[in-house]
Amino acid sequence: MKWYYEQPVKILFGDHKIQELSEIIQKEQYKKGILVTTTHFIKNGFAGQLLDDKKNNLADIFAGFSPNPDVEEVNRLGEHLRKEKIDFIVALGGGSVIDGAKAASVLIEKETSIQKYHNTGEKVPKKHLPLIAISTTAGTGSEVTNVSVLTNRKQGIKAPIASESFYPQYAIVDPTLTWSMPQDLTASAGIDVLAHAVEGYWSRLHQPICDVLAVYAAKLVLTNIRTVYKDPNNQAAREKMAAASLIAGLAFGQPKTTASHACSFPLTNLYHIPHGEACGLTLDFFIRLNGTKDFRTRELSSQLGFYDYEQFADAVQKLKRDLHLRTNLTDFHINEEKKKELIRLSHHANLKNNPVEVTDEDLRRLYDGLCD
Ligand code: NAD
Repeated sequence: MKWYYEQPVKILFGDHKIQELSEIIQKEQYKKGILVTTTHFIKNGFAGQLLDDKKNNLADIFAGFSPNPDVEEVNRLGEHLRKEKIDFIVALGGGSVIDGAKAASVLIEKETSIQKYHNTGEKVPKKHLPLIAISTTAGTGSEVTNVSVLTNRKQGIKAPIASESFYPQYAIVDPTLTWSMPQDLTASAGIDVLAHAVEGYWSRLHQPICDVLAVYAAKLVLTNIRTVYKDPNNQAAREKMAAASLIAGLAFGQPKTTASHACSFPLTNLYHIPHGEACGLTLDFFIRLNGTKDFRTRELSSQLGFYDYEQFADAVQKLKRDLHLRTNLTDFHINEEKKKELIRLSHHANLKNNPVEVTDEDLRRLYDGLCD
């Protein structure tokens, strides 16, 4: 067996680790930074505190990324970076903010647009601004991956771009920053973590280091997600979910995701289902589909303490109900034409990374089951 592993991101984990931000900036001699964040951290005053601390060298703030960030938002930040001669970025937020910042970090040489690299296979420039990614959701693991997931709303496409240039220089995972996650985000982002671990494990590009990380992360989710959902102030469980998110990010970073993520892109794009919830929607279906033919899906089920893959799939279905996540698409009254569109758009590259071939008939069975 041949495999490759790399992880260039320096990782700081633990409650209040955010306090080491200025030390990093001083040590690296970063001079003029921009804080990229969301209105939540502006409203609660935290972004202001980071800007006011002179040792952070943060000259500016950008809060222009919507959830599932759009390519035009990336271009706006890119333009700002060039105009203001910014030399580093601090991204404080969930996957949307971190992904948007990663993508803009390469738009520094000359005026250009991220569309050139989105869903085109065009190579992303090597030169980029250094990024310090501070995750505030226990979900995407984006702080340690080389992936930026962007949406082109005009063209109706949501797709990831992968590039070495997107690895942040530092990831700060401070679980205290996730304490304010609302209950629905806790649930949706939490099931995204499980999907990363499971898909990283059964991916065609699987490898032993990521296997170990995937099992560890999945166990943390299965034992802590109900606690954080019911008791958002449970700091110990929040810490475990933050660790699960980071470690699942490391688990899928190289192997990449598979069928549930492929289907999530059109589900989010067309029906505005939050990313993690969209991944969770199809996860039990793919556990059953893969379990019939793929030894590693069965192996993972038993490593997670399930009798077989059917019991694992049942447990995921029950978990979704317990977290009040969507288990079907009936609300959307999806007609035949729209179902065909979903089937067509689910044929994203990640689908080919599924351990078992997913045919149109399989997707038809999936969407018939979810819609009827
Ligand atoms: P998000 O970043 O879209 O945030 C959702 C909402 O929660 C936003 O309104 C945000 O302001 C708010 N929020 C964030 N942190 C908060 C906190 N601590 N308290 C209160 N509100 C908070 O959510 P997400 O699930 O982290 O990211 C989803 C995005 O990440 C999707 O676009 C998805 O495709 C992408 N993603 C990227 C990777 C990767 O490796 N790059 C992996 C998986 C998913």
